[in-house]
Amino acid sequence: EPHMLELAQAAHSLENDLRVSLATHTPELHQAINNEQFSIHYQPIISSSNYAIAGFEALIRWNHPQRGWVSPGQFIPIAEEIGVIDMLGTWVMRKACKDIMQWHGPQLAEDFFISVNVSAKQFKKPALLADTINNALEESRLAPHRLHLEMTETSTFNEIPEKFFAVKETGCKLSLDDFGTGYSSLTYLHSLPFDSVKLDKSFISDLYVRDEARWSLSEKMIRAIFSLSSAIGLELIVEGIETQPQLHFLHKLGCNPMYQGYLFSRPIPTDQIPDFLSTPLHL
Ligand code: C2E
Ligand code: CA
Ligand code: CA
Ligand code: CA
Repeated sequence: EPHMLELAQAAHSLENDLRVSLATHTPELHQAINNEQFSIHYQPIISSSNYAIAGFEALIRWNHPQRGWVSPGQFIPIAEEIGVIDMLGTWVMRKACKDIMQWHGPQLAEDFFISVNVSAKQFKKPALLADTINNALEESRLAPHRLHLEMTETSTFNEIPEKFFAVKETGCKLSLDDFGTGYSSLTYLHSLPFDSVKLDKSFISDLYVRDEARWSLSEKMIRAIFSLSSAIGLELIVEGIETQPQLHFLHKLGCNPMYQGYLFSRPIPTDQIPDFLSTPLHL
């Protein structure tokens, strides 16, 4: 039986550790970046019409000297809170844009994209974010439309629509992450300049569960979001696909979304991408 107090204490001390490591802003955080404690894993996003690789999502990883691998779910919120998210976000953006320019292979769609997660905190400074984007595009020579930014909705999402347009002026594309879980006001889907939505993976993981009411509700939600996104002209990415039956269900809906999930590939360490691209996708 789990001892809740011990668990809570362990979590608390992990959080403190991370807080200390991240809070040592400069030069230690720079050093952590330079010492390659941080790295990026890339997960392919598959086009459902021909199973080509349409793009990759960049997912940050941290190999902490004392703690080992720490998930971004743990350290990103802390980085946001103590104000180092701009620095980490800039590092990811520059590295991802450079990396993608090195990749070749027959299963890559022409113009395949790189999708970078951007924190709402970064969006609060649209001029800085636009600078970061423009610099990353310039130094990598990546065509702007091949850079996609993913962001999760927050309660303050629609307060200042101009911010979105300032970022959009760089030429990159915007994707609404975890769609269906947040504060979802459907009105901003067409009032804000989104190009795509990513259906939250909870809808997919609820398919084929024992609880038939849950399963059936998620089927209905998926159908509704498929038709909504196509009606308003947004590309749809379905994430969290882990099993053949889930894929089969999605296929039968007769839309052409993009697919992402462990069924196709786990996120891949950067140095393993060339190998991955030299062998056909195994489905
Ligand atoms: P997210 O953006 O929703 O990313 C999807 C998460 O689902 C990733 O977890 C990915 O590894 C995982 N995943 C992919 N396929 C499957 C699947 O088939 N089944 C299941 N169960 N999970 C799958 P990860 O890498 O641990 O990232 C967690 C979150 O951390 C991300 O959620 C994102 O919000 C945040 N994050 C990651 N990298 C960055 C970054 O560079 N910047 C910012 N601001 N946030 C990041
Ligand atoms: Ca994402
Ligand atoms: Ca997501
Ligand atoms: Ca998320």
